[in-house]
Amino acid sequence: MALIVQKYGGTSVGTPERIQAVAEKVAAVRERGDQIIVVVSAMSGETNRLISLSKEINERPDPREMDVLVATGEQVTIALLSMALHKIGCPARSYTGGQVHILTDSAHSKARIQDIDDARVRADLEAGRVVVVAGFQGVDEHGNITTLGRGGSDTTAVAMAAALTADECQIFTDVDGVYTTDPRVEPKACRLEKITFEEMLEMASLGSKVLQIRAVEFAGKYNVPLRVLSSFEEGEGTLITFEDEGMEQAKISGIAFNRDEAKLTIRGVPDQPGVAYSILGPISGSNIEVDMIVQNISEDNTTDFTFTVHRNDYPKALELLKETAEIVGAREVDGDEGIVKISLVGVGMRSHAGIAATMFETLAKEGINIRMISTSEIKISVVVDEKYLELGVRSLHEAFNLAMEAAE
Ligand code: ADP
Ligand code: ASP
Ligand code: MG
Repeated sequence: MALIVQKYGGTSVGTPERIQAVAEKVAAVRERGDQIIVVVSAMSGETNRLISLSKEINERPDPREMDVLVATGEQVTIALLSMALHKIGCPARSYTGGQVHILTDSAHSKARIQDIDDARVRADLEAGRVVVVAGFQGVDEHGNITTLGRGGSDTTAVAMAAALTADECQIFTDVDGVYTTDPRVEPKACRLEKITFEEMLEMASLGSKVLQIRAVEFAGKYNVPLRVLSSFEEGEGTLITFEDEGMEQAKISGIAFNRDEAKLTIRGVPDQPGVAYSILGPISGSNIEVDMIVQNISEDNTTDFTFTVHRNDYPKALELLKETAEIVGAREVDGDEGIVKISLVGVGMRSHAGIAATMFETLAKEGINIRMISTSEIKISVVVDEKYLELGVRSLHEAFNLAMEAAE
């Protein structure tokens, strides 16, 4: 007898009919004799609807109340799915994050899971019941409802699988696996049979929303076998695995992109020790995460400094940078919200030279100007104007033969 954790995303539970279809799939697992925990998201569009509702009341809602509000989406789905299971004669019980006792820190809207009490869940499984758990939510040590960040139901599923040492964690979604790039942008994208944790972590952190980054981190850390599958068609999906020594690695596994960034530049900053700190100190002091950073070589003892932040943090970061410019005597500050980051990811990059050159050549041929570059051992990222996103992704997909490599 195996223990399986299945997670169904918003589209997969988007209508009463789809919830009934999920119930059939879940009941089939129990009928073949396995134990099953199901984690569900809010019905598609519901979390966004709740967020806009809050904005109508208060532009800057209190983070605690915001979590109380958005956590309701998942509570609806767990109840409906349990009712659908009962209707087909399958015993099931639903639990909110707080009821399971998924303990998190108190960082509202981006809480981290610290501990899971598995007692109630185990007792239900032993009694032959399906356990239905609300994704995306937990409770802090003071009993406040917390949420785990957008896409957080993936993390709930992996954390449940880790806590109960499940045999597999299956993430059911509206695509049939992890693709070489988002199939909505490049229809020629191909499903990968396998991808390493390291690559998936990069893909997720560079913008591929098919899995939440913390879910991948968690699965890697606790060695949870993780698979991404379609809710709507049969198939093997994509297995996230550890690197296979014997395997000849493709140079590039995938292309990720991120539309959620904005770029800020401060020019004519007197170049002296501490300049980076004086610019970035106030930014990080306001809890704004900085992604890429470029400092130019100084001319006439002044330098230019450019960095990117999440687009939501752009207005605040710009305000802080203008204050810093006055203090340090910089010439000017400007910013650009119309940018995107495109990244190539692949562990095979380690042993292949010339990837960056091919990337830059491909973009140059399409007349795409690169505004920033950053590299690591297994990824190369460029920042380009937003209007070039589709063209950039498709031309790189072609240049690196991703449609063919994945099919091989
Ligand atoms: P769910 O609601 O099931 O959690 P998400 O919308 O969060 O679903 O994630 C699935 C979506 O991720 C797909 O519809 C697809 O557009 C997008 N996506 C982005 N990058 C990739 C990729 N490399 N492979 C597959 N899907 C991707
Ligand atoms: N409902 C939440 C969201 O839309 C969590 C999730 O779906 O994973 O982000
Ligand atoms: Mg998701």
